[in-house]
Amino acid sequence: MRRLANFIDGKPSTADNSERAELLDPVTGKVWATAPASNGAEVDAAMRSAARAFDGWRATTPAERQALLLRLADALQARLPELTEAELRQTGSRAAANEIPLAGDQLRFFAGAARLLPGLGAGEYVADHTSYVRREPLGVCVLLAPWNYPMMMAALKSAPALAAGNTVVLKPAETTPATALLFAEIAAEILPPGVLNVVCGGPETGRLLVAHPAPAAVGLTGSIATGIDVATSAAATLKRVQAELGGKTPVVVCADADLDAAVTGIVTGALSNAGQDCTAASRVLVAAEIHDEFLAALETAVGAVHTGGPDDETAMYGPLNNAAQLERVSRFVNTLPDHARVVTGGHRVGTAGYFFAPTIIADVLGDDRVSTEEIFGPVITVQRFTDEAEAVKLANSVVQGLASSVWTTDHSTAMRLSADLDFGCVWVNTHLMFPTEMPHGGFKRSGYGKDLSTYALEEYTRVKHVMHKIIRHEPAPLIQIAAPQPTRRT
Ligand code: NAD
Repeated sequence: MRRLANFIDGKPSTADNSERAELLDPVTGKVWATAPASNGAEVDAAMRSAARAFDGWRATTPAERQALLLRLADALQARLPELTEAELRQTGSRAAANEIPLAGDQLRFFAGAARLLPGLGAGEYVADHTSYVRREPLGVCVLLAPWNYPMMMAALKSAPALAAGNTVVLKPAETTPATALLFAEIAAEILPPGVLNVVCGGPETGRLLVAHPAPAAVGLTGSIATGIDVATSAAATLKRVQAELGGKTPVVVCADADLDAAVTGIVTGALSNAGQDCTAASRVLVAAEIHDEFLAALETAVGAVHTGGPDDETAMYGPLNNAAQLERVSRFVNTLPDHARVVTGGHRVGTAGYFFAPTIIADVLGDDRVSTEEIFGPVITVQRFTDEAEAVKLANSVVQGLASSVWTTDHSTAMRLSADLDFGCVWVNTHLMFPTEMPHGGFKRSGYGKDLSTYALEEYTRVKHVMHKIIRHEPAPLIQIAAPQPTRRT
């Protein structure tokens, strides 16, 4: 049994007397490790470490930080087998191996992007005064990560903060701390002590981190309920909050869509990672005239997919992450209203671990819980619409506003829907694509602020105006102003 330890000030924490939580393997449901449920003393130690490291880290040049973050990306790649093994253990998903290169890409992008921080031009906006802006790091940043892509999320949240010169206290989700701890261990060979600290624990530890007086900002990826809790707590000390929260992604399939492409895109977009993706293509809205044909094609495609453990090379996806998530997904399917029907799936697979069958639910209505609440499992709902106006109305009717997709072969339809959909991302004839250069973040209750892209650097920098009075040795030349003279009142 592995005994994981917090990583504080460049080394594993030995002073920790927190209670310990068991980590369960999602494939077997058996305990494979324990991790601290970190208490106030551990949180305080991590904060002190990050605060001590801040002055030195912010004094490094962007180029120096870039060099270190590029080395860190290389070091992750060099430890790929070990990181993959740890990720596989805590997620049960064979897709775990893909996360490490994606994590490296985050580090590489932000390493360079922080050398190009945007700002207004320096200039004389008042006569005899020069103004310019400085972009500065914020200080200590608390980063709270979810369990769906643990390693990738650890890097995605940390990279912009570190590249901009902040120090970090990262808390991975309580069920998936192993790769974040390895990340910190690898980083400790490259970054100064205290620049990246990792503290384990669940919501209680998260609350202690957010309420602590040291951090200047909190970056969260998590559920809407957590976002509200974090924003409320952070408001007490006016900490800046960046919140990437849950989604309820509409997938609008128009009557003129390329059906094969739409079905393939939806199966991949909805079932990858067992549907545990905040932008999963899980809420399909389909034009009434093609509804039956589409549903039959979707049923065939989903019927060809199955879930399985890491040894099953033909399985499309692995288990749900934990018992609570299995229970949550099962509850959605077991409490459907009478008008909705399970077309395929709808049940747990096996008795060990947390596997759930690929599922389609048809004939749902807009107010059903499965249409409005995030399921975060391998479940696709299908609802029909009669015209474009109704499609937009249904799509926008939820409180979430993270992502959406449109499937059509008509350019104008795509352009109209791209403008009308109230979501932070609209994909056209594609789904679940995340170039690091493009912003990712929601509207409405899916939160505020962006991950990815140079917009993420805005979240972790502050703008300072500096203004110098210019002392002239010669009087300034007189300038004839050609502007119209005010009319004299008589
Ligand atoms: P969660 O909200 O339960 O937890 C996220 C993190 O916050 C964890 O580290 C958790 O321990 C911590 N936390 C929970 N409650 C807290 C509190 N009150 N104060 C401080 N910290 C707290 O989310 P999860 O179950 O780990 O992940 C699934 C959720 O994350 C889904 O809703 C999903 O949509 C969302 N998510 C969003 C995005 C996005 O980019 N928008 C990406 C991935 C996941």
